[in-house]
Amino acid sequence: VERYAEVAVPLPLRQTFSYRIPDELGERVGRGAQVEVPFGRRRQPGFVVDLTEAPRVPPERVKAIARVTYPEPVFDPPILELAEWVAEYYVASIGEVLMAALPGGLRAEPRRRSRTREPERLGLARAPSRLSAAQERVLAPITASIAAERYAAFLLFGVTGSGKTEVYVRAAREALSRGGQVLVLVPEIGLSYQVVERFRMAFGDRVGVFHSGLTKRARQDTWRAARTQEIGVVVGARSSVFTPLPALKLIIVDEENDAAYKQSDVPRYHAREVAVIRAQRANATVVLGGATPSMESFANARRGKFRLLTLPERVDGRSPARVRVEDLRAEESTARRGPVILSRSLASEIAERLARREQIILFLNRRGYAPFVQCRHCGYVARCRDCDVSLTYHRGRESLICHYCGFERSNIQECEKCGMIRIFFGGIGTQRVEEELQALFPRARVLRLDHDTTRRAGSHGRILGAFARRRADILLGTQMVAKGLDFPNVTFVGVIYADGSLNIPDFRSSERTFQLLTQVAGRAGRGRRAGDVVLQTYYPDHYALRAAAAQDFVSFFEHEARNRRELLYPPFSRMVNLLFDGGVEERVIGAASWVADHLRRQPGGESVRFMGPAPQPLSRLRGKHRWHFAMRAPRHAAVRALCEAALDRWASRERRFASVRFSIDVDPMDLL
Ligand code: ADP
Ligand code: ZN
Repeated sequence: VERYAEVAVPLPLRQTFSYRIPDELGERVGRGAQVEVPFGRRRQPGFVVDLTEAPRVPPERVKAIARVTYPEPVFDPPILELAEWVAEYYVASIGEVLMAALPGGLRAEPRRRSRTREPERLGLARAPSRLSAAQERVLAPITASIAAERYAAFLLFGVTGSGKTEVYVRAAREALSRGGQVLVLVPEIGLSYQVVERFRMAFGDRVGVFHSGLTKRARQDTWRAARTQEIGVVVGARSSVFTPLPALKLIIVDEENDAAYKQSDVPRYHAREVAVIRAQRANATVVLGGATPSMESFANARRGKFRLLTLPERVDGRSPARVRVEDLRAEESTARRGPVILSRSLASEIAERLARREQIILFLNRRGYAPFVQCRHCGYVARCRDCDVSLTYHRGRESLICHYCGFERSNIQECEKCGMIRIFFGGIGTQRVEEELQALFPRARVLRLDHDTTRRAGSHGRILGAFARRRADILLGTQMVAKGLDFPNVTFVGVIYADGSLNIPDFRSSERTFQLLTQVAGRAGRGRRAGDVVLQTYYPDHYALRAAAAQDFVSFFEHEARNRRELLYPPFSRMVNLLFDGGVEERVIGAASWVADHLRRQPGGESVRFMGPAPQPLSRLRGKHRWHFAMRAPRHAAVRALCEAALDRWASRERRFASVRFSIDVDPMDLL
């Protein structure tokens, strides 16, 4: 009998295709094989997801697999099945999911092991000899679960500095000692030095790290070593959730609330959710950790889906930082021209710490000098050619840059609309803060850490290393300074503008703000001296700011949960966002309405709330107009059924929509 293979190709298609297995390839084509197949007039890479004796189309129309491009199966059955779950749940193409699961892209013939470039080491990690009583208390159920080899999910809610990393390391040791393997997910490998270092220190060669300095071949080697169990621990970002680990016993998801776990383009999966499913299927233990749990995970803990473990205090009983909210409105009325950058009270705190030779971290989530340039006479604002955003002025380069697409042009001296020479810089970016610091504290040594100062390889590590060795007094930066850093001599953290993320028009903006502020505040007072934090804001009464100042996650959660429940937003509903984009706006609007009208008429839609179609808040990006249609309902099944209806409708779309791209975002992280 003829044998056939179902092949998934990495194209936005949700079906697989039948191919005949030619005799000469025979044994080499198994499930998980990487192959090349004729597809239309071209050849396409693909992955065999199934073997059958009955093709899905008449046998005479079935073409043959052209070649097998890798000697062994690339995917093991558990990873294939996980990818199938991802494709199904996120309404994605299985071929695209499998492609995303392969770090370094398609597999090439293995050769000798390649040399890898190690990331810079800061030498900051310290290994404590004994766990605190609180750490022991949370570790015990985790190790018991690892020993039982049954699925269990824990939410480890531990304030910054409570010693979570150490708990991860001990849990990993337990899994390894039982012959198991461990997967450690971090939001961004480059911003998680300390976690990576602690694991390297504890397990040396048994750790494989997927970091950005790896060549394609080195990634493949790490992947293979995980698969053959040469290594026991894999540390990596989002896509590492698909690493083959035949003896997987433990998955750790650090900073589980981080938005980086959600892939922002197709396939739009959330690695935390995939990790939980993977643990379930492997009878493994999963630990989701963080200082500010996501609304989703905390709600899951309340519902009993996850077991909540808390570390409410810092190790050694160090006191949490004192947080003060500074009302910029009061300051503004007495201010000179231009925005308030450092309030008098923030400036005097800085002066005090400088005098005491203590270190300072200043946070502003905006790089460049000024987020917009405007004409005082006619109000004209310089905008990106291709995006619906203002251009940011960068001093030094003397240019205006789009932070979304990278478009760059030279700065303007006079208004392009009215010709007047009354251009002014609006808002503040990190460069402007740096300038202000130099003016106020000429002797202070300031390091700036943002996308602009870390373009060159190694510069990120060099800046942090210099600060760690106390070669600078002030570390000023974007959210790069908010994550995972542990500098014991830092006693003060200033947030220049706490409202930045609050003003973003999105249902998660309060949650994001709370998380970010808590994370930044956690950088203060990591050593013996207590820390202080000042948050500058125009909105001191906002509940996210109040809760952040009180460092009270639960009260934030309660308040936010009330809002979300009332408005039927996740985690108290399931949401799907349908995205439409294209170069011609009328076509994009037409397509969005054509699908939306159809969905509104579907039976069973009574429980669903529809939103739109409407332009996305970022209504134009890289020359594409963007519209969306969001749906939310108490149960996933209701919105899921509508996704199928939308896909069917789209499959029969009219010719005039040929230039419009349609995609689906299940459980969106934002509606921007
Ligand atoms: P988190 O990940 O919760 O922010 P860390 O695991 O980074 O906390 O721990 C914070 C600091 O406390 C680190 O410098 C770490 O080395 C130290 N530490 C952790 N556990 C202990 C312990 N049991 N005894 C002493 N110091 C500890
Ligand atoms: Zn742009």
